[in-house]
Amino acid sequence: MHKRIVVALGGNALGSNLKEQMACVKTAAVSIVHLLEEGYKVVVTHGNGPQVGFIRDSFDYYQKTHNYGTLPMSVCVSLSQGYIGYDLQNALREEILNRGMNIPVATVITQVIVDKNDPAFKNPTKPIGSYMSEKEAKELVHTGEAIVEYKDRGFRVLVPSPKPVKIVESEVIKNLSVNNQLVIACGGGGIPVIEEGNHLRGVSAVIDKDFTGSKLAELIHADYFVILTAVEKAALNYGKENEKQLDFLTAEEALLYADQGEFGSGSMEPKVRACAEFVKNTEEGEALITLLEKVKEGLNGETGTRIIK
Ligand code: ADP
Ligand code: MG
Repeated sequence: MHKRIVVALGGNALGSNLKEQMACVKTAAVSIVHLLEEGYKVVVTHGNGPQVGFIRDSFDYYQKTHNYGTLPMSVCVSLSQGYIGYDLQNALREEILNRGMNIPVATVITQVIVDKNDPAFKNPTKPIGSYMSEKEAKELVHTGEAIVEYKDRGFRVLVPSPKPVKIVESEVIKNLSVNNQLVIACGGGGIPVIEEGNHLRGVSAVIDKDFTGSKLAELIHADYFVILTAVEKAALNYGKENEKQLDFLTAEEALLYADQGEFGSGSMEPKVRACAEFVKNTEEGEALITLLEKVKEGLNGETGTRIIK
């Protein structure tokens, strides 16, 4: 039996500019293809913070002279999925061929349904794009996006971060994976859409990639959900003298520590919660948080933070 893994790549696995990304995807590909060699079936998902920022800013700039229209976040996310997917699938294909393997790779542009009554829509929290002048901010008011003023630094757009409810293309992703194809999906948390009958309407929001990854792992019946990030383990009292790195957590313990504010909100907290949700929502699923270069050791139980039943 080949075990199936959903691997979520964090920002540090993709770099924060064009050149970095081209180099970073090569490193990521080495670790992921290692897993294929070990016989795992892998589905890759990834963040898109810097990439979606530059896409949005570029179009804002273009709009100033071409009246093209402000690009909704949903469109920005779709573009980032295409761009990052292109770089990743290219690097993965090359690494697979270099090792004499024959596994096809593809990126699936993925839409994720969110609930239009999600409380997050009343409380936008994610800053996106660059700082703007008051005049530029006023020009964006018609988009309906929230604008926030940061003292001395200018204005920024804030978008809500609703929870993923359903992944529209999950069956496609599962079928590809079951048939031994390497899939990249749900990039940047997925394109946020709302169901209106048969129509899916894009919304200005950003879904947390860790929560979408967890949902994807659940829907495609993965055995493991693995979050690869910039730290080897999650910790209690992070960054303090009495820091304690965590090897094992039950899903219950993980949620309890999260409620107690042990993990950075918007960084480690969504990861721990996403792992706990996957473990709780599946019968035998296990989750792991560790470094990209330690993924093999982590799956062998040698490092990382494991979240178990
Ligand atoms: P990613 O791009 O992989 O999603 P994030 O920056 O969002 O990465 O989250 C990972 C970061 O969370 C780590 O680099 C670390 O600085 C931070 N962090 C916050 N709280 C903790 C904690 N309790 N234990 C470990 N890392 C933490
Ligand atoms: Mg993050």
